[in-house]
Amino acid sequence: MNELLLGQPVLVTGAASGIGRAVALRLAADGRSLALLDRDTDNLAVAAKEAEAGGAGEVVPLAADVTHAAGVAAALDRAVDALGPLAGLVSAAGILEPGGLADVTPESWQRHLDVNTTGVLTLLQQGAPRLRDGGAIVVISSNAARVPRTGMLAYAASKAATSALARCAGLELAARGIRCNVLEPGSTDTPMQRDLWPDPEAGRRAALEGDPGAFRVGIPLGRIARPEDVAEVAAFLLSDAARHVTLQQLFVDGGASL
Ligand code: NAP
Repeated sequence: MNELLLGQPVLVTGAASGIGRAVALRLAADGRSLALLDRDTDNLAVAAKEAEAGGAGEVVPLAADVTHAAGVAAALDRAVDALGPLAGLVSAAGILEPGGLADVTPESWQRHLDVNTTGVLTLLQQGAPRLRDGGAIVVISSNAARVPRTGMLAYAASKAATSALARCAGLELAARGIRCNVLEPGSTDTPMQRDLWPDPEAGRRAALEGDPGAFRVGIPLGRIARPEDVAEVAAFLLSDAARHVTLQQLFVDGGASL
């Protein structure tokens, strides 16, 4: 446990699953206090218990939907009441529904914008006043924000907007010494990713080796990311070791965005 991090609480959205959960557990191992927000209350309770068992200071589970601004504000208030002003915010809540130009529905387009884009804007707008000067923000976007992908039109567009809004917000927050960085993962082994693979073995192979029919080059490092790979970079960006790093968009994708 790092004694210095004991009094530096972090709020993580999407903390019930995948990358958000891995970030929570990584920060727990440092002894951070955590506010864990997700709409999946059952898995949120499990993740909160795991974080406690993994060494976190205090853990506050927050059942909330990032598309409901009033609920996010109330959740942030509960976090600050319990833990004090936040030292970090991590946005990992997100959705992915397959769909391309020919078949994306207006409803699916809107859901992507509501969760992946407006949900992040809400978190940053509501979270910034509750963040200490000198704090840090990490937004989990996607390499699809910068690399076109077939069958992911709404997802990619929502993530491109998210990467841009996070960097604009970070520019404004720099005056308070708050750093804001964007992580853009590639294929990462989480429930979201597995939902895209009706045949898990074929899905893994296509992600690793590439798929010329889908204009995908594969993953040069030859492995699908573990959620912990992304969490490790998030923990670095939240830490004082990254004290002069802000407004960056960092691929964490084994080279898949070449
Ligand atoms: P995941 O396993 O599906 O976890 C996402 C979590 O966010 C789930 O618990 C989900 O709850 C929650 N969530 C979704 N919408 C929410 C909302 N409106 N309010 C509150 N919570 C909500 O996905 P993941 O793979 O860890 O993805 C985490 C982030 O990384 C996402 O932003 C994703 O776009 C990004 N990412 C993932 C990959 C990948 O390959 N896995 C690659 C690039 C980027 P429900 O289960 O109820 O939806």
